[in-house]
Amino acid sequence: MATYKAPIREIQFVLNDVLDAGQLSALPSYGDATMETMNGLIEEAAKLIEEQIAPLNASGDTEGCRWNNGEVSVPKGFAEAYQQYWQAGWVGLSNPPEFGGAGLPYTLSKVVDEMLCSADVAFALYPGLTVGCFEALHALGTDEQKATYLPKLGTGEWTGTMCITEPHAGTDIGSVKTKATPNGDGSYALDGGKIFITSGEHTMADNIIHFVIARLPDSPPGVKGLSTFVVPKFLVNADGSLGARNPVRCTSIEHKMGIHGSCTCALQFEGAKGWMVGAPNTGIQNMFVMMNLARILVGLQGLGQCELATQNAINYAKDRKQGKAFNGGETIIDHPDVRRMLLTMKATTEGARVMAYETGLYVDLAHHHPDPAVREAAGDWVELNTPLVKSFCTDSAFDLGSLAVQVYGGHGFIREHGVEQIVRDSKILCLYEGTNGIQAMDLVRRKLMMHNGRLPQRFFAKLRSESTADAPVGFIAKPLREAVDELEKTTQWLQESFKTRPDDVGFGAVDFQRAFSLTYLGYNWLRMAKAASLSTNDDAWKLSKLTTAQFFAQRMLPQVHALCANVRNSATELMTLDAASF
Ligand SMILES: Cc1cc2nc3c(=O)[nH]c(=O)nc-3n(C[C@H](O)[C@H](O)[C@H](O)COP(=O)(O)OP(=O)(O)OC[C@H]3O[C@@H](n4cnc5c(N)ncnc54)[C@H](O)[C@@H]3O)c2cc1C
Repeated sequence: MATYKAPIREIQFVLNDVLDAGQLSALPSYGDATMETMNGLIEEAAKLIEEQIAPLNASGDTEGCRWNNGEVSVPKGFAEAYQQYWQAGWVGLSNPPEFGGAGLPYTLSKVVDEMLCSADVAFALYPGLTVGCFEALHALGTDEQKATYLPKLGTGEWTGTMCITEPHAGTDIGSVKTKATPNGDGSYALDGGKIFITSGEHTMADNIIHFVIARLPDSPPGVKGLSTFVVPKFLVNADGSLGARNPVRCTSIEHKMGIHGSCTCALQFEGAKGWMVGAPNTGIQNMFVMMNLARILVGLQGLGQCELATQNAINYAKDRKQGKAFNGGETIIDHPDVRRMLLTMKATTEGARVMAYETGLYVDLAHHHPDPAVREAAGDWVELNTPLVKSFCTDSAFDLGSLAVQVYGGHGFIREHGVEQIVRDSKILCLYEGTNGIQAMDLVRRKLMMHNGRLPQRFFAKLRSESTADAPVGFIAKPLREAVDELEKTTQWLQESFKTRPDDVGFGAVDFQRAFSLTYLGYNWLRMAKAASLSTNDDAWKLSKLTTAQFFAQRMLPQVHALCANVRNSATELMTLDAASF
């Protein structure tokens, strides 16, 4: 069975020494969020997660969810653990106090998300979607809608969903058909079928609040005719008590490759009563209010699984004896090829952690910093980082899950060791909230072009300013500067080709996205190496950080050049092969 120990020291190193997250307590809304408070909360969350949630990971995977005549049961132990989790305040950690939350930084909630997603990513989806639904209603709802739903969504007492997908409408959201017909009293009757709805039906909470994309009868076709609605499983009476069951039926649940503990539901809306959220036909913009933060959360899900794969592979490799290595050692960690895999895993996970937490930090600065210029710059970073965090952390989770299996050898393929579950659980992360291919389109078509290319320009300027020749860690500063030059050249090529050669841009987008992420990780490893070299009291730990930084600089960062060459080699001839000739 895979085991999980929260990497507290790594987490605190990134927050304290690399990102200076203590700066958050200087923001007017976060006066209480000192580093000391945050560190204490991280340790408290880690204890609950290690002791109560992690033990459910393997059993939840084996048992899965069950559908019976419209009712869904979750694996044994999930309901009790969920009650404990929300009642301890972890679902509402960064939600506003007026709606039952603790009002603490978003960054802190992402740290807790990482730990929860290492312990059991399937379980983590129940609170995850709840927070997403809360964020959408908080940003867009009327005062009445907020008063009705947010106090209980904000704590996690009720759970939430996001209902977009239909059988014919996956990536192509504009083809959603679910209808919302006015009832004449301010409410709407929703009719239609949604599929793949995470946490769509269960009895872990007293009520489920669905955030639904649907179409008004007279709406224009495509994405311009979508609107958003709040549809509760149980209608809520004026005094807050629960009323009649709304006709939203769970007709089946999916049998999946992984995340078996998470119920993935087909929902049939049969005249279900809902209320419009936001203005008519603004559904696509409304959905992105939820989707942008949800994409960051999925990145954290990926990071959690990266950490799980990495720590289990390292522990196993230290223990498993097999042959004599050239250095005389007898455990598999002494073999150079196993070290290559473990260093790849460490370099990826620790580098991705800085990227993910920094994105959280920028969300906090973008929302709460008193200086508008700082808010604008932080907002640009969030926009740019969102597809990077989502795609890099989740692709890495699947890759590192596979590497963990490789480190375990044949034993990794056997279920009882638990690492094959990481491969199965993490694949979905690359697919939902917009596939990673769609993240790449977002990066090259939107994020590179916004504000006349201001987003990547800020990124290049920052990296150049922090990787100057006299930096104490020249072994990574130099290859980082070379990677930035290459990436900037490729960015300009994409910006120029965007209108004239859209297929070439689309063809190169995923390679570009990875090149961008690896360059970002180069910056992260530069900062980690600098911070570690200042550390005076633990030589083994310092050596581990500097060696991993060196590995990243020598073995991973140079991949940026090949990836960028691939992007610029994209040619329209690739699109001339007709489908029948494949
Ligand atoms: C376990 C699970 C949980 C889910 N949870 C939810 C949920 O809670 N709520 C919800 O609404 N949905 C949910 N989904 C749906 C999920 O978001 C979609 O599956 C996803 O958006 C992709 O849609 P699709 O499966 O129809 O694939 P398709 O859209 O058919 O895509 C197939 C392939 O084509 C590519 N592609 C499609 N269009 C383009 C394009 N324009 N440019 C480039 N490439 C393109 C994609 O990248 C992909 O590789 C869930 C799905 C699963 C499996």
